[in-house]
Amino acid sequence: MLRVRRDQLTYSFSASSVPVAAIDSGDQVVFETYDASTGRIKVAADLGKYLLVRDSRKVNPAAGPIFVRGARPGDELVVTIERIDLADQGYIRAAPGGFLEGIEEPEVVIVPVVGGELRLPGGLRLPVRPMIGVIGTAPAEGIVYTAVPGPQGSNLDCNAVAVGAKVHLPVHVAGALVALGDVHAAMGDAEISGTGVEINAEVTATIDVGSGRAPARPWIETSDSIVTTASAPTIDAAARSAVNDLIDLLRDRLPVSRSEAYMLVSAYGDVRIGQACGGLDATVYVRFPWARES
Ligand code: CA
Ligand code: CA
Repeated sequence: MLRVRRDQLTYSFSASSVPVAAIDSGDQVVFETYDASTGRIKVAADLGKYLLVRDSRKVNPAAGPIFVRGARPGDELVVTIERIDLADQGYIRAAPGGFLEGIEEPEVVIVPVVGGELRLPGGLRLPVRPMIGVIGTAPAEGIVYTAVPGPQGSNLDCNAVAVGAKVHLPVHVAGALVALGDVHAAMGDAEISGTGVEINAEVTATIDVGSGRAPARPWIETSDSIVTTASAPTIDAAARSAVNDLIDLLRDRLPVSRSEAYMLVSAYGDVRIGQACGGLDATVYVRFPWARES
């Protein structure tokens, strides 16, 4: 099985990125992923040095990219998340100028992972909720940095991207150039302080090419739901795109009109914030119950 080493990383999705390896459709891959600081925050005292030389174009690394043989523009890439193995500690960070006013100083808390539980401030212990923040393919043109979300994925911060999920991504360039990273041991919807519990991890995924089915934006199948995602400068605009995409998915599956699908979403679709921590486009995802066929 291919293993993408932790130092085989990228900070952007682009057609000109050089792939670190090539695989065939159906192959399984282990991605060793770095935390959002590329391993620079190990103890609380590391924060000052990290912030001094923090470059917004060099945060949130993703492992890869990988060239998938046979993937062509117009196809879709389906990334099935088989396992997420977490390192033994992560961190949460807060900073002035984010979502909440009145935060005077940047601060970081180191969070040990012990026996599947997070040791949190205040003596609180809660179970891990592993998920993947960054997953995407290369855009047809331009650069999408791993710090931001794009129409081909990247920093989606969607809690549905967890073990068992099948993530459907568009292919815009030959080989797709897929990469993933920014694993969180847990992340609340909206990631309001700007981080989840950022952590090194190993992600095992199976990668398949589906011919001629490129979605406009990433969408996800879980064991019990279908989930659309979108990003935009405002939560409202992102929600509207994700709802429209869900209506389209429902109309592919059911003999319903557009307004009937709209009402189905109103009845059972949960509109959730992926990330709205400020300073970058917001992401929204919409979950609708659906039993997976395979
Ligand atoms: Ca993120
Ligand atoms: Ca993160």
